[in-house]
Amino acid sequence: MIKTKRAYNFNAGPSALPLPVLQLAQEELVNFKSTGMSVMELSHRSKEFENVLLHAKQTLTELLNIPDTHEILFLQGGASLQFSMIPMNFLASNQVGAYVLTGSWSEKALKEAQKLGQTTIVASTKEEQYRSIPDVNNLSLPSDTAYLHVTSNNTIYGTQWTEYPSIENVDLIADMSSDILCRSIDVSKFSLIYAGAQKNLGPSGVTVVIIKKALLSRIPENVPTMLDYNTHIKNNSLYNTPPTFGIYMLSLVLDWIKAQGGVEAIEAQNNKKAALLYNSIERSNGFYTPHATEDSRSIMNVTFTLPTEELTAAFLKQAKEKGFVGLAGHRSVGGCRASIYNAVPLEACEVLSTFMDEFAKENS
Ligand SMILES: *Cc1c(COP(=O)(O)O)cnc(C)c1O
Repeated sequence: MIKTKRAYNFNAGPSALPLPVLQLAQEELVNFKSTGMSVMELSHRSKEFENVLLHAKQTLTELLNIPDTHEILFLQGGASLQFSMIPMNFLASNQVGAYVLTGSWSEKALKEAQKLGQTTIVASTKEEQYRSIPDVNNLSLPSDTAYLHVTSNNTIYGTQWTEYPSIENVDLIADMSSDILCRSIDVSKFSLIYAGAQKNLGPSGVTVVIIKKALLSRIPENVPTMLDYNTHIKNNSLYNTPPTFGIYMLSLVLDWIKAQGGVEAIEAQNNKKAALLYNSIERSNGFYTPHATEDSRSIMNVTFTLPTEELTAAFLKQAKEKGFVGLAGHRSVGGCRASIYNAVPLEACEVLSTFMDEFAKENS
């Protein structure tokens, strides 16, 4: 074990990774499984790397209970490239891409689809500063809807879906970049799930896509090879050189989740962590104001404001002195944000909760 002082890391992304994962990667760095080299130096066509990729797929399948109807891909270009790939592959010219707007990432996803075809906004909470997830019980979709796109967790505003819309014969697509594996989900309800790895899965550079195979026949011939999901399906994510080290790190993170007791255990831990911070907000009697409405609160990104800019600055300054990192809110909304992804330990949330209580008491 390496003696090392770890920060209380509340970064929004890239973000905290589990310490045992970093330590194992360090141990294996110069000689991975007796190959005499690091994973970075292996051929992506080697048996050793193939095993890494296979192991990552198997573990993810197990953790999320991914049915045979779906396939896993490891792609590049971040979640942001998925904003374009989805309409390029699935938005035909006689169809409409349906989007629910719940924050900046949904807006960016919509913007790319607008460049490529017809779109419609079926629900939005923009008018109320994206404080909540809209009620989608009575969504009305055009009859020629290509797919319905939602952003599962709104990293910047701190809101999260609890119940996803389920509409017969409509393919549901979800950006789960900031909450994949934070709780159990029913993968079979989704036609496509995508997530940049750098929040809950590993380092940046890999994007996980879980795609329903029935969708693949819809992809038109003229999609550029690298942007065509079929290319990556046919080649097991090895059409070109994949981000090998990222996939390796991701496989270690998945092993770590499994060792914690799987997604259900992680979910229980995440609920506990989030409750610590939301309770501090509640206890402060209005000193901290949560950005999200109670029914839409994220268990991954806790967003709140303080009474004045001066107090916010003082809070962030003292937090920094105490070793907390990453608590400033996103530049577009201000205030504070604690990102408490899977790898953020309970202890970090306990210490932050105590600090929040003390700061509120001293400054109320
Ligand atoms: C971070 C984030 C993105 C952007 O991911 P990149 O991998 O940087 O493209 C997209 N959607 C959500 C919900 C995010 O949190």
